Amino acid sequence: MKDLGKILEYQENDIEFRKIDAEFNKNPDKKKLDSAKRDFDGVQREFSASVTEAERLGKEIEQAYAESKAAAARIDELEKAFMAAETDEAKAALLPAMETEKSRLDSCRNKVVNNIDRIKKLLVSCSQKQHEKKKIKETYDNIKATLQKQLETIQPRREALKKRMGELREEVDPELMEVYARAKKDGMAPPVFVAAIRNGDEWSCICGMRLSPGSVSKLKNDGIYRCDTCRRILYIK
Ligand SMILES: [Zn+2]
Repeated sequence: MKDLGKILEYQENDIEFRKIDAEFNKNPDKKKLDSAKRDFDGVQREFSASVTEAERLGKEIEQAYAESKAAAARIDELEKAFMAAETDEAKAALLPAMETEKSRLDSCRNKVVNNIDRIKKLLVSCSQKQHEKKKIKETYDNIKATLQKQLETIQPRREALKKRMGELREEVDPELMEVYARAKKDGMAPPVFVAAIRNGDEWSCICGMRLSPGSVSKLKNDGIYRCDTCRRILYIK
């Protein structure tokens, strides 16, 4: 089988690369870093929600202010009409409208006062959140610096593996590379290529699957055979 040695070398490098990363990710500091990141995002979301709410309340204040100005202007006009009215009936006829405008004015004022109260509270909470974010960021940066140091110790080997894998990727038969890449994409953890186990005339896969005579001849002809059970690619050593 052409390029089999190269794909096996690629696979070996890949396994070591994944092992290094898996071990690094098991690092408790890595978990702490992830959790600090989550905490930060959580506080950030609350912060943004408070800002959005304050903006909405601010717009409501503007609107209530405009409405209260209009209501005050109408009250002025109604009061002038009231003074100018010549009969008690005419005066009485103006009263309901005056009441309506006054209560409108009151509710606008209440809205402004309530919204301002709420905005003040939001501002306090925003500044607390800002402080909290700063503290989490400090923790995050500290852990990150520790991790960075640890990363530097594994990085040379990691880079070397990556470089070699890059070279091999260019050299290996693209079809074999594709088989490997697809198997990994489907969620198979390497090894993808495994040597078939021989016991006399019987051939089997590492998963225990025994090859039928037809499968054996296919393996011998093509040099590789996909296991029917675990889908790994068998080759003859
Ligand atoms: Zn198998």
